[in-house]
Amino acid sequence: MSSTRAVSKKSSRSSTADRAGRIAKKLAASYADAECALVHSSALELLVATILSAQCTDVRVNLVTKELFKRYKSAKDFASSDPKELEAAIRSTGFFRNKAKSIRGAAKMLVETFGGEVPSTMEELLQLPGVARKTANVVLGTWFKKAAGVVVDTHVHRISRRLQLTREDDPKKIERDLMALLPEAEWINFSHRLIWHGRKICTARKPRCGECPLAEDCPSAGKIA
Ligand code: SF4
Repeated sequence: MSSTRAVSKKSSRSSTADRAGRIAKKLAASYADAECALVHSSALELLVATILSAQCTDVRVNLVTKELFKRYKSAKDFASSDPKELEAAIRSTGFFRNKAKSIRGAAKMLVETFGGEVPSTMEELLQLPGVARKTANVVLGTWFKKAAGVVVDTHVHRISRRLQLTREDDPKKIERDLMALLPEAEWINFSHRLIWHGRKICTARKPRCGECPLAEDCPSAGKIA
């Protein structure tokens, strides 16, 4: 690579990082109290709720878990649950067979390998069946307050591309880009806030760019039909 091209690539990376920094500040000002919307009172409940939240709204998950967590209180309860009964209890969250399989599989491993407790490292969480980086990041960031990465859900995926903080489509690569652009101290809150922004302003179908606090720093402002 010629030195001129190397310099220009470096300066474009630093200007994207500057923009990411401004965006993080504006999100903090607009959604200071944003936090995980999944109702939970333990790491296990958060893990189960996050598994259920795939392709489902948090509101629906909260309705389902309100009853679910009265019935199944420990990893042992989930591990020894009747598959059909568990499927019926979570049916309305969609993809219920796979989700029930993941929950039972994860719970079984919690009992057999982790003494019934949810582990607190990325490496251990990723060993649980049905648990990928998104779920692990939610549990680590929200329950254990550990910044191991950035949660990339459907909102973070969509908005970080609209903001051109990434050109990637694969969540793992989007996460890698966001981690490189933002200081570690921002990782947990940035995704909580972007998720709220996705619900309120930068919605999938009709982003409300006219009232968006990020518009000045967004290359897609007013350009999404
Ligand atoms: S300006 Fe529009 S596209 Fe950009 S973040 Fe705001 S609402 Fe989304």
